[in-house]
Amino acid sequence: MTRMFKIALPDGSVREVPEGSTPADVAAAIGPGLAKAALAARVDGELRDLNRPFEGDASLALVTARDEKDALELFRHDYAHVLAEAVQNLFPGTQITFGPATDDGFYYDFAPAPGRGPFTDEDLPGIEEEMRRIIAADEPLVREVWTRDRVREYFEKSGEAFKAEWVMELPTSEPITMYRSGEGDRAWMDLCRGPHLASTGKLDPQSFKLTRVSGAYWRGDPKNPMLSRIYGTAWLNRKQLDAYLVRLEEAAKRDHRKIGQEMDLFHLQAEAHGSVFWHPKGFVIWRELEAYLRRRLDSAGYLEIKTPQLMDARQWEKSGHWGKYRENMFIVPDEIPHVPEEGADDDAPILSGDSDLMALKPMNCPAHVLVFKQGITSYRDLPLRLAEFGCCHRNEPHGALHGILRVRQFTQDDAHIFCREDQLIEEVRTFCDLLDSVYRDLGFDTYAIKLALRPDQRFGSDEMWDWSEQSLRDAVRVAGRDTAEYGWEELPGEGAFYAPKLEFHLTDAIGRTWQVGTMQTDTVLPGRLDAAYIGEDGGKHRPVMLHRAIIGTFERFIGILIEHYAGKFPLWLAPVQAVVATIVSDADAYAGEVAAALRHAGIRVETDLRNEKINYKVREHSLAKVPLLLVVGKREADESSVALRRLGSEERQQMMSLDEAVATIAAEAVPPDLRHP
Ligand SMILES: [Zn+2]
Ligand SMILES: [Zn+2]
Repeated sequence: MTRMFKIALPDGSVREVPEGSTPADVAAAIGPGLAKAALAARVDGELRDLNRPFEGDASLALVTARDEKDALELFRHDYAHVLAEAVQNLFPGTQITFGPATDDGFYYDFAPAPGRGPFTDEDLPGIEEEMRRIIAADEPLVREVWTRDRVREYFEKSGEAFKAEWVMELPTSEPITMYRSGEGDRAWMDLCRGPHLASTGKLDPQSFKLTRVSGAYWRGDPKNPMLSRIYGTAWLNRKQLDAYLVRLEEAAKRDHRKIGQEMDLFHLQAEAHGSVFWHPKGFVIWRELEAYLRRRLDSAGYLEIKTPQLMDARQWEKSGHWGKYRENMFIVPDEIPHVPEEGADDDAPILSGDSDLMALKPMNCPAHVLVFKQGITSYRDLPLRLAEFGCCHRNEPHGALHGILRVRQFTQDDAHIFCREDQLIEEVRTFCDLLDSVYRDLGFDTYAIKLALRPDQRFGSDEMWDWSEQSLRDAVRVAGRDTAEYGWEELPGEGAFYAPKLEFHLTDAIGRTWQVGTMQTDTVLPGRLDAAYIGEDGGKHRPVMLHRAIIGTFERFIGILIEHYAGKFPLWLAPVQAVVATIVSDADAYAGEVAAALRHAGIRVETDLRNEKINYKVREHSLAKVPLLLVVGKREADESSVALRRLGSEERQQMMSLDEAVATIAAEAVPPDLRHP
């Protein structure tokens, strides 16, 4: 007698199917529409192939293109396989390695055939064409369970050294699966955990594009051979793909590295990998941002401190960073200096060779606990909010660095709030309000709040995690922001090892998202470093420590601002706010007067007295993204007036008296927090 399995569907109904049945059979039994739309299945929560038979009673949810996240992941993974098959068809002798789905598409790493050299952008159109051919052929993608030795033998025989190496490292506890595309001699195989779509024909030949080629080391290790990585982007349909390509083009125009150079804001060079050289104009933005944040923190009851860059290695050991984080820390020998003898002509520094170890701080938290621990803190002193624009260093591989968005030396808008358990919700709620108002002031009206929950590997008891997670959840609810409008979402497994965290993700002008703000509840570090306050009962208690940041780091945030505004900063942040440009040299002296009046009103102003046509000057300053241009000629000098032009405004210039212009510009340049409604 055939065994029957009970399959529970999302609507609560249960279907009985004979052993050997698959999710595809259930879809077909429900209706032909669903059978066609189904891409894969969630069986007891696990994403699986549509044609993989049930192994017993199970819950089943069929995945269609409506389940956008799952569908995209499936499509992208399939495209990666089709890409690999296409490359091997076109370039025999190429070895395959890995090819995962990414946030916007997929890539695959190849070892080009000996003597061929790396792939280039010129290869991409031909590969795309072959991919479309494979999609049109609608080859079935079949899952097969193989033994490890059979896989190794297969790959060794086909000259796939990388795959043969990799399979030997897979855990023996799980079945090893191969995916076959096509039949017989023409079959193409890849070692893969799946799942996949039922056949290549499920892919839309018009909604993917190969985008670029780069080098990548086998398993990310520079000691290993260099592979050729081909990237592609893939979407659910042509419309999504086109929108993405437009966004990509727009993003390239806004690239902060390009604009940073055009506007002379900063530079980077190999002598200081991952540390920014801020130029005068770029540092104006930093100073304005820092002054703004400082005012906001002052009025929100924070106390600003400054703590050391270097601390003894033993202190980092106590805080747990030495054990968990050492590979990302810059370690510095603390050598006893050699004192030259009187009259000796030392021209090179000589170190004594006697040294202890210190480390540059990768974060400010332990130093803030040390400040908290000075003297005796009473429950009445809490909450204590210690803020620092703290400069930190983290050692990241050179390949991971990206302009000023990902650097090794950075300054956080860091603060730690030490509070009692009963104050936590109110502190988090107030923080949510502060952050909301800062983001709006800085030009971001849309952002999402996410709660990252406990990871598998963690410190602390389950009770502690229950309490911390629930407190953050409650605080966001009390703040009225646990709604769809704020993109409220919980992310299981994504918290830090010591605490759950709230993440704040900004949406920029072209729809990209950037995580910048965080709020974490921590009961571990105060314990490790023995921080305590005296409670109402006269006993010692551990404070809760809240780690929080609003903009994250100055470097990255200014990079985001540059791309968000495409360099056209709001007046209060603009490096040069106004240029006074002359039409004739007769107006030179008057231009100087205008500039002096503006400078006196606190405006960052330059003059342009060059002997050039005014249209040329207008074009040049508008390319340099100067928000205001004051044009002066003989008439303006005689009348003590100016012609005011605004960047990007269709309006013709406005004529006004010098006094009026100074008053108008000064009022517009006031930072948002100092404006009176
Ligand atoms: Zn795969
Ligand atoms: Zn911290």
